[in-house]
Amino acid sequence: MSKKWELVLDHKCELGEGPVWDVEHGIIYWVDILAQEIHQFSPASGKHEVHKQDQMVGAIALTDSGGMVAALATGFALLDLEKGTKEMISTPEGHLPNNRFNDGKCDPAGRFWAGTMDMADLPYAGSLYMLGADLEAEKKISGVSCSNGLAWSLDYKTMYFIDSPTRGVRSYEFDVETGAISNEQIAINLTSEPGIPDGMTIDAEGMLWIAFFDGWRVARYDPHTGRHLESVFLPVARVTSCAFGGDRLEDLYVTTARVGLDESDLVKQPLAGSLFVYKNIGPRGLPADKFRTN
Ligand code: ZN
Repeated sequence: MSKKWELVLDHKCELGEGPVWDVEHGIIYWVDILAQEIHQFSPASGKHEVHKQDQMVGAIALTDSGGMVAALATGFALLDLEKGTKEMISTPEGHLPNNRFNDGKCDPAGRFWAGTMDMADLPYAGSLYMLGADLEAEKKISGVSCSNGLAWSLDYKTMYFIDSPTRGVRSYEFDVETGAISNEQIAINLTSEPGIPDGMTIDAEGMLWIAFFDGWRVARYDPHTGRHLESVFLPVARVTSCAFGGDRLEDLYVTTARVGLDESDLVKQPLAGSLFVYKNIGPRGLPADKFRTN
């Protein structure tokens, strides 16, 4: 039997992105970048909450102290969603008003990585930053066009990164002690695949699950060989990111977008922008790394 998606809830994002599963509380978080919203949903209780922000939210991660770190349009912030408070901590691109932060994720040592893009898609205008426990942002890669998926290998020795227009997954040797990256390579060449690689996650077998914007699917690849292993399909074209969730991290949550679709597209894709899940997809995921504060 082929695998089948399920709709998680009846809500459509303009640009759903950045899913994060909270293992402790059994909650899936995700963002609607353009609507400036952080969403949370409990599959157990069915409770859906929306936390409106005063600017775009590119990515979020849980922190070890119970709050959240976010890459907002203008920079990094600490958020308390229950209190509705925000503390800006670093604005490394405060001088670049046409840029905004996009995708981000914590590394295995608890540093938060997030990158930027030009809002009019000017190429090479963005950078990838690393935010450490000292709350200082350090530029790690410049000349990025559309900073997207991030993942770290199970042995912490490799970082994977997608700059979407390059249509590939890059690998870097990663020093988990310092956060240093070196020896950039192309791990997976996706130039002949339909759609643009967007967000990604790694499973407990070390394989990458990549969301394809305008590609109607999430596909699993072996980053050691660059080989395609399997694809799972969605009823919408603009598939943006994915993350494992569920009690045993056995389910794959998938975010999607409706931004840029015209009326005839939306007739064919009425669920565009929804959050989907593939239950018991096969391989399990890993708990999301949290941001470590001092
Ligand atoms: Zn993305």
